[in-house]
Amino acid sequence: MPKTTLFQAITGGCCPRCRRGHLFQYNSWLSSRFHVQRTNCEHCNLRFELEPAFFIGARYVSYALMVALIGTMFVGTNVLMGDPSLTVYLSIVLPAIVILAVPIQRSSQVLYLYMFGWVEYDPTLDTDGGPV
Ligand SMILES: [Zn+2]
Repeated sequence: MPKTTLFQAITGGCCPRCRRGHLFQYNSWLSSRFHVQRTNCEHCNLRFELEPAFFIGARYVSYALMVALIGTMFVGTNVLMGDPSLTVYLSIVLPAIVILAVPIQRSSQVLYLYMFGWVEYDPTLDTDGGPV
């Protein structure tokens, strides 16, 4: 029985193989070094960048998430406020884009690794004691 669920692993930015190690060097999204990734998992030593420039593809995931966010905010604003002016739309959507850009960028890299990394979860590595 896995100790860490898939949802917990993805939202926590954890390694897809052991679900213990972390993809990013710094956990805080507010750090200026939010984008610094580890080269290998600190728990199971999985190499995260599976091939050169592997995470370039994460930009497509980021783009899709951002389009979904902007579309949802425009529709939500329209539904909740009737048909406000363009200034109202922009004053709501632009701050949200700025605030959520870092979480979306990090989330897209984690999602891309889980979707296209083809790394299988190994429950024997999902322990607190370190690699088996
Ligand atoms: Zn790992």
